Amino acid sequence: MSIYLDYQSAKPVDPRVIQAMQPYYYERFGNPSSLHAIGDHATEALENARGIIADFINAQAKEIIFTSGATEANNLAIIGYAMRNRKKGNHIIISEIEHISIHNISKFLEKNGFIVSKVPVNQYGEVTLQKIIDRITKNTILISIGWANNEIGTIQRMADIIDLCREKNIVLHSDAVAAQGLLKLDVGQNPIDMLTLSSNDIYGPSGVGILYLKNDTRINPIIIGGGQENGLRSGTENLPGIIGMAKAAEITKVEMTEETERFLKYRDRLIKETLDNIPKSYLNGHPSRRLPNNAHFRFSGIEGESLLLSLKDKGIDVSTGSACSSKTLEPSHTLIATGLLHEEAHGSLEITYGRFTTEKDIDTLLDVLPGVVNNLRKLSPLYKEE
Ligand code: PMP
Repeated sequence: MSIYLDYQSAKPVDPRVIQAMQPYYYERFGNPSSLHAIGDHATEALENARGIIADFINAQAKEIIFTSGATEANNLAIIGYAMRNRKKGNHIIISEIEHISIHNISKFLEKNGFIVSKVPVNQYGEVTLQKIIDRITKNTILISIGWANNEIGTIQRMADIIDLCREKNIVLHSDAVAAQGLLKLDVGQNPIDMLTLSSNDIYGPSGVGILYLKNDTRINPIIIGGGQENGLRSGTENLPGIIGMAKAAEITKVEMTEETERFLKYRDRLIKETLDNIPKSYLNGHPSRRLPNNAHFRFSGIEGESLLLSLKDKGIDVSTGSACSSKTLEPSHTLIATGLLHEEAHGSLEITYGRFTTEKDIDTLLDVLPGVVNNLRKLSPLYKEE
């Protein structure tokens, strides 16, 4: 087995989660919409799971809508809100470093009569309040800013953004997929209107997620059918997946503090030792306002892709950026937004780790990385030693 340091792309499902899900494939397979006993049990399990997930973010159970994942939750939040409220205005604001799903949803809305403004970020990937304020117009109905970035790990000042949106009476959505399980998300303390979470990012199964929808926020459904999820997301609920997400949330709630302390130690070692030991290596993202499980570098003179393949040969799996856009040859829109040149963005390496990463895995990467970078530089016509 290789050492896996690409937790942002996919996380293994926690065995305790699999154990909790198993009965729901066979003994407790009922459809929550059925009126017989096995259907009643399914409804009870579904509502219990909803309560656990609500508790995870300090919400009320009725504010949780189950979806097929974060992409769908982002679609439901942004398209659902825009379509329902288009009479109030047709202007939406996102940041330049949103997940590709949000960028593509914006393009869809632009084709349907909406205007989308993109807030630039600074060199660390931070959205500044003033840049949002500069873009607000009397037609702005919705702002969507990711809680933390899924590539470079920069954490946004969400409390300030929430205050701004409340003051201006504009609805705020946040894709919190990268932040969940690493930062405390409390919608009581941080009264946001809509929040996207995914199950896999807390070691639950893929293909499940939620949209948190604050009580008085009105949206249109984007999937029409039998009226499940209060009419906002039709289709038979993925009960085993939902049970898995609830179990994952329950475990994460208990273990998060200890886990993130461990991750912070890994992160700070990875950053310090890499920058100290490898000449012309640079950190992407913010030096401290970054997720505890993220270290993102660039090394001048080499391609991230060759670095990934060389590390793969040594039994270490890393990433060059978001798996959701890895099939395009375009450099990461996030890195470009932070001001990097195309060749710098292409020379990047993303290291993300998680629950099952050991200190030994980090040691191995730190042992191997300087040699790999050095060898690639010897072959690189682009690299010039000072
Ligand atoms: N938002 C962010 C920030 C992500 O990292 C991802 C991918 N993990 C998604 C949305 C899409 O998630 P999914 O593939 O579960 O729909």
